[in-house]
Amino acid sequence: MLYHSTNHNSPIVNFKQATIKGLAPDKGLYFPESIPQLPKNFISNIDKFSKEEIAYTVIQPYIGDVIPKNELERIVAETINFEFPLVTIEENIFSLELFHGPTLAFKDVGARFMSRCLGYFVKDHPDSHRDKKITVLVATSGDTGGAVANGFYDVEGVDVVILYPSGKVSSVQELQLTTLGKNITALEVDGTFDDCQALVKKAFADDEVNKKLFLTSANSINVARWLPQQFYYFFAYQQWKDKDQPPVISVPSGNFGSICAGILAHQTGLPVQHFIAACNVNDVVTDYMQTEKYIAKKSVATLSNAMDVGDPGNFIRILEIFNKEFISLKNVLTSYSISDEETKSVVKNVFLNKNYLLDPHGAVGYIALKKYLQTHPELQGIFLETAHPVKFYDVVEPIIQQSVPMPAAINDLLKKKKQSIKMEVNYDAFREYLVAK
Ligand SMILES: *Cc1c(COP(=O)(O)O)cnc(C)c1O
Repeated sequence: MLYHSTNHNSPIVNFKQATIKGLAPDKGLYFPESIPQLPKNFISNIDKFSKEEIAYTVIQPYIGDVIPKNELERIVAETINFEFPLVTIEENIFSLELFHGPTLAFKDVGARFMSRCLGYFVKDHPDSHRDKKITVLVATSGDTGGAVANGFYDVEGVDVVILYPSGKVSSVQELQLTTLGKNITALEVDGTFDDCQALVKKAFADDEVNKKLFLTSANSINVARWLPQQFYYFFAYQQWKDKDQPPVISVPSGNFGSICAGILAHQTGLPVQHFIAACNVNDVVTDYMQTEKYIAKKSVATLSNAMDVGDPGNFIRILEIFNKEFISLKNVLTSYSISDEETKSVVKNVFLNKNYLLDPHGAVGYIALKKYLQTHPELQGIFLETAHPVKFYDVVEPIIQQSVPMPAAINDLLKKKKQSIKMEVNYDAFREYLVAK
């Protein structure tokens, strides 16, 4: 498989080059030259395959020959070595729990896959990074940091530097990215997520830094993080009982990588009735679906902080899938914007009435699905429960006025000591740190 840039002004590359580069030189996103079609009998016999076989079949066409079969099988198996259960909430509503991985959010899937691919490329092909150690630079508003830190921990030949906004991530999130050590360093920036993002972007554009270090990014625009997110849509369908009536799927969305992977899976042959982009009040895409005008906004802080994105990077890939034909897109996608008030009230009501504890992101997905099913009562749907509620116990506990039981892994984590390097929002200080590494 080859990849072009969504700005159509960069050389065509293979999966390995796209993964190592992250962003295309013309600042576009890499996009597959063609969309593979899955064999019909793969879908109709999906019950007969293991999770590993499904994931391998889905991803292999995107990798081509840059990773041999046995290595790719190992990478896939390690990526998905936890559960993806589909849980009944109501007669026509199901929760796809994506929080059973090591950092309790769905980002584990993309981060585990990408880190292993990069680890493979570094180990066997040192030419690809000109004998310099690869440094992964990533800014996080919360969940990306932990998933990337965990995924890359102890991967030989790769250093990770994570920038996070001091005091603006949940305590569990902070510990997940500051307690590993070894090849993982956390920079605690005295500013906002946007400040962290700006520092990272400057470093990528800085010749002096790039002469010293081979930088790459592990955020969700990287193809190796984006594409494996298709896996869990297939796992959901495998568990779906009524195969004659495919599900509506509601996806809590921020940077739009996860939903874009779902739509791609659908294009390759996965049966899905309709997609819902469930947004909080950061409603750029909800507006676009009404007006056909894309207007980026400054992000607003909400209870579902991983979705506080004012200019969702991956949306361009969704437009690319539909060749920018608005009518075709509208047939597949509906978007709703949900307020914090609605989110709180639903977390409380679903807990009291259904005995199911939603996290704030999953709650947005649930509400949006409910809205769609009100006008389509004959259908059934799935929402993605993208994080474990315990990750946001500071938000959830006051709403349900109860404490949330802590899984053992979180209890251990809460005993650890955070290690971070404090940093002002000052590019020169940041550059000095990088160059001295
Ligand atoms: C990152 C994240 C999202 C948003 O996913 P995108 O792929 O950026 O749209 C939703 N929920 C949680 C818990 C997240 O961490």
